[in-house]
Amino acid sequence: MMLRVAEQYAATDTGRQRRANEDSLLARSPLFVVADGMGGAQAGEVASRLAVDVFEEGLGDTAEPESGLAERAGAANARIHELSHSNAEQAGMGTTLTAVYVAPAEVAIAHVGDSRAYRLRAGELTRLTDDHSLVDELMRQGKITPEEAVDHPQRSVITRALGPEPSVEVDTRTYSARPGDVYLLCSDGLTTMLSEEQVAELLRSHARLHDAGEALIAAANEAGGRDNITVVLFRLEDPSAPAGALAPETAERAALSPAGPDGLAAGEAIPEGDGKGAPDPGELEGVLVPSAPVHRPVQPRRPRPAAAPGSPGEGRRRRRLRRLVGVTVALVVLGSIAAGAYLAAQSVYFIGTNARGLVTLYRGVPYQLPGGVKLYRSDYVSGVSAATLSPVRRGTLLDHSLHSQAKASSLIRSLELGQLSE
Ligand code: MN
Repeated sequence: MMLRVAEQYAATDTGRQRRANEDSLLARSPLFVVADGMGGAQAGEVASRLAVDVFEEGLGDTAEPESGLAERAGAANARIHELSHSNAEQAGMGTTLTAVYVAPAEVAIAHVGDSRAYRLRAGELTRLTDDHSLVDELMRQGKITPEEAVDHPQRSVITRALGPEPSVEVDTRTYSARPGDVYLLCSDGLTTMLSEEQVAELLRSHARLHDAGEALIAAANEAGGRDNITVVLFRLEDPSAPAGALAPETAERAALSPAGPDGLAAGEAIPEGDGKGAPDPGELEGVLVPSAPVHRPVQPRRPRPAAAPGSPGEGRRRRRLRRLVGVTVALVVLGSIAAGAYLAAQSVYFIGTNARGLVTLYRGVPYQLPGGVKLYRSDYVSGVSAATLSPVRRGTLLDHSLHSQAKASSLIRSLELGQLSE
């Protein structure tokens, strides 16, 4: 079966609080890319643009889309890294990368950083990428809860990017595709402003991808628009499928002709995934994807312990999550008691990053009490972007260690003087 991109939408928006847009995108079927750049001056813009340019040159031999994407990602990394050494203003610049290539019956993804790819299938939104962020790693290690992650001071620190290092580890995966699948690529300016439930709802409630995309960007702006927002959407269809499997947009047009399928009114959505032309799911999942991809069901932003037993396959993850939440809640309660004591002493500091990714000295402890009471506040914002630090340095400097004011200040001071830059 040959699937093709039947409809697409791509846009980037500066948001409400940034002056420049450092995101870049490419939407040239069958290749779709989102890159979110970071670094001082206009370096972020340069880095994300460069990444997209390298993909624009094409994949070469696409017999193996995954390795083709990985090769391009490596080339982009090398080019950004090289350029960052030729210009002091661009030192340490980097970019996230989420690239998707549509093969006849699958989609291949290459991914670095905290931009994301999602798939909406039969109304269910599934995240296809893992964030390479400090917060995600802490969450995976059970050190913080998903609730804490939402407003964590180090939320914008990413642990992998194209550019900062001579080489980079790129995640690649291939997912089987089905007619009616909608794919979303986005920068964190969308997902830090909207919960995944909100994203899913906006996608479900707009039949045309253009309307859905505009609604997503508008909603992220209404929620504050703290960062650049990039949204790329595309829908796959089987051109040879019988009319019953047509996409809503196609159905709209078809309904105007006497031969229209099932007499659908304009704008009436056809349930995805159960059209007459839909393939047997088992056939697709089993045969076309040799190594079964890890499907990661969407976590609600603030998961309720007694989440409704919704779609199949979520059960195991939810049970694991619940156990994790239970353990971490206990730890956090204990931690909060200690934190209260620390705060009373007013003598504890830690180093993190602020919403703009700058290394920041925080007074207090890196916890947030239920109800959103933060046990820390920003004390001093350095001029150093966390993206310019090596992963090792990021790991040790931003590891939540509590310091005295003198120790923390001297760490930040030497960082600013460049003594810790490598
Ligand atoms: Mn961003």
